[in-house]
Amino acid sequence: MRQIAIVGSGPAGYYTAEAAVKLWGEDVHVDIFDSLPVPFGLIRSGVAPDHQSIKGVSRRYEATAKAENVRFIGNVTVGSDVTVGELRDLYDAVILATGAPSDRQLGLAGEDLGNVFGSAAFVGWYNGHPNFAGLDPALSHDTAVIIGNGNVALDVARILAKSQDELAGSDIVAHALTALQGSAVRRIVILGRRGPHQIAMTPKELGELGQLSRACPRVDPADLPPVDEDQALEPGVRKSVMHLRAFAEAASCPEKGIEIEFDFFASPVAILGQDGRVEAVEVERTRLENGRAVGTGETYRIAAGLLVTCIGYQTSPIPDVPYDEKNGRFANDEGRIAPGLYCVGWARRGPTGTIGTNRPDGFSIIEKVAEDIAEGAVKPGRAGFETIAAERGIDFVKFTDWQRIDEAEIANARTGSPREKFVHVDHMIGALGRE
Ligand code: NAP
Repeated sequence: MRQIAIVGSGPAGYYTAEAAVKLWGEDVHVDIFDSLPVPFGLIRSGVAPDHQSIKGVSRRYEATAKAENVRFIGNVTVGSDVTVGELRDLYDAVILATGAPSDRQLGLAGEDLGNVFGSAAFVGWYNGHPNFAGLDPALSHDTAVIIGNGNVALDVARILAKSQDELAGSDIVAHALTALQGSAVRRIVILGRRGPHQIAMTPKELGELGQLSRACPRVDPADLPPVDEDQALEPGVRKSVMHLRAFAEAASCPEKGIEIEFDFFASPVAILGQDGRVEAVEVERTRLENGRAVGTGETYRIAAGLLVTCIGYQTSPIPDVPYDEKNGRFANDEGRIAPGLYCVGWARRGPTGTIGTNRPDGFSIIEKVAEDIAEGAVKPGRAGFETIAAERGIDFVKFTDWQRIDEAEIANARTGSPREKFVHVDHMIGALGRE
């Protein structure tokens, strides 16, 4: 019998569990730890609330979660409630699937001003992650600036731009829906330090911006390279660029009320503020040299009252686990960190790819574990963890507990929405009738 601990119950965690069960059948016990009492990580807290079809993948994880030999152990923080060393003593393999929940920093003066947020925080706020539920962004200024040209920048722009009707069927949490209802934001500027051919936005997500009821995207035709140069692009990027070309050709839309402006070749150089709050972003015009953005020396200011950086994420370090500072993930050799210790998904490779990319990643790490541990030693696994939990008074949550939290969230949903999430851990635990 092999005892496997997976730390993190997001896509990478559940695909890895699925791979373990597929390979070893009943000859494995898989325990999936999560610091929250609720599973599914990025699916719950990262995927945009109006992308319910993407969230549907959690049904696949549920099927794995319900297997006899797979168990969810929520409300346990590995690194503080229990150490990685302790888990390594209890399990044949400990696989870190903790994702990349922390924001990368711009490293600019003014980044610590009020109403400047990283996307992990801002997305966590509208998705009801307990760490960010109290963010309380001010939406009182007419201009918001978003830095980055990836899909997260699109998510943030879309959520800021959508009407209450458009958000009605989403699972955006009540505090964010109410704040957005009173939002004064009428101009959303998306800064890209490089050009339209270098965007990391995918076609479907970009196309959605052209379908909004009260906002329209604006692209300066002068930023677009000659159309025949699109032929050299990879097909997905080419499709995205076609959307940008359509946005550039479309008439302006003052009647809609909100404009989403793409400002390409624009690199932030400073964040300016007064009384501790952001008031403007100073931007330097760039040009491309060998694919890299190089400053031209020309600068300008965009007055803005909200700034969200969407420049990628990094894995949060865990005590005693070697960390690769440069790449913001655990130091690893194709997922191997140390004997019996592995990482998978974003914690292994950094925040790239789609949710589905984590499936082959999960299967690949289980192949490596299989090479390394053979039959598995006689390790206590969960029974050992339960002893520690009892000694330390760790009030862990099982999958059946999550199902009760889930039912309560569904019952609390406003009309048209799939659920109203609990945004405080106490309330999640309270839904189980515990203190
Ligand atoms: P991303 O795709 O890596 O994009 C990051 C963007 O930030 C890039 O445009 C990058 O520009 C820019 N950037 C980085 N450092 C910067 C700096 N110092 N100054 C200015 N710009 C900077 O990251 P993401 O948007 O956070 O997305 C993370 C992953 O989740 C991606 O794989 C994404 O596709 C995925 N995702 C998917 C969906 C979906 O499928 N619906 C939704 C959300 C996220 P350069 O290219 O110049 O470095």
